Amino acid sequence: MTFRTRFAPSPTGPLHLGHAYSALLAHDMAVAQNGEFLLRIEDIDQSRARPEWETQIYEDLAWLGLSWSPNVVRQSDRFAAYDEALDALWTQGLLYPCTCSRRDIANALSAPQEGYPTHGPDGVIYPGTCRLDARQISGPRPKGAVMRLNMDLATSRIGQDNAMSSYRFNDMNKAPQDVVFTSEDVTSNVGDIVLSRKDMGTSYHLSVVLDDAAQGITDVIRGADLFEATQIHVVLQRILSFPTPTYHHHKLIRDNTGKRLAKRDDARAISKFRSEGYTPEDIRKMVGLSGQDSGAISSVSVPSTTDV
Ligand code: GLU
Repeated sequence: MTFRTRFAPSPTGPLHLGHAYSALLAHDMAVAQNGEFLLRIEDIDQSRARPEWETQIYEDLAWLGLSWSPNVVRQSDRFAAYDEALDALWTQGLLYPCTCSRRDIANALSAPQEGYPTHGPDGVIYPGTCRLDARQISGPRPKGAVMRLNMDLATSRIGQDNAMSSYRFNDMNKAPQDVVFTSEDVTSNVGDIVLSRKDMGTSYHLSVVLDDAAQGITDVIRGADLFEATQIHVVLQRILSFPTPTYHHHKLIRDNTGKRLAKRDDARAISKFRSEGYTPEDIRKMVGLSGQDSGAISSVSVPSTTDV
């Protein structure tokens, strides 16, 4: 199978050194494997996505010396595919509409059950206030509503089909063992996640799983901040009968104080380095991907705001 990976930035701000590291690493791995490097513009949040940031993504990546497959996927072109998947999950009784406000959820969580976590990889673990039994759900899916996945029902269906209720995925940075988790883990640590938001008609988790499958991604190379979210993606892949890619959750680039870089870190924006006369090789050096340490997962020293 051809190695195929992707870089999936959101056009909501400038790419910074952390993005450069992720894109360079994915690109280098694709080249080393004689594989393909794809680009996906993750712009489901139309209130924050801007065409000028998308243009800058292409410019920054080209300046870094990367080339990508010409079929760039833009998530905003894929709302029909997300809708279709939501309809299929709705028909299977795996979704329910949620009308809780943040305050309702906070109130319900103010008396948590002892021993149960209140926060998971998707934020607060929904206490189940609106959860309906699948048999009570009928008719067409209400559009424009918040839709939650009934995690308990979803994992028990997967369990029935597979005669086992554990999940695994291979994380190259944790090899040789697979990362294994159970239905119980995902029910209690993640809970009923939102698969469709009112303002978006989809969610990050649903879109990323559908798009990785549609783009035939064999290897997902992304930051360690998304490691916990991968269990959600693996469950969705099982429900939707998609293969699970191999994951590589790489280190995060941090500033000198140990803080992870964020979109608002304009001082470390690739475009800023570019305009100040740095070279792509300088960027590779800064993130630890130059010459002999190419591909190494090592600690790096990123110039602090005052250094640049
Ligand atoms: N769009 C996400 C980001 O910019 C990346 C998602 C992924 O790689 O799965 O952080």
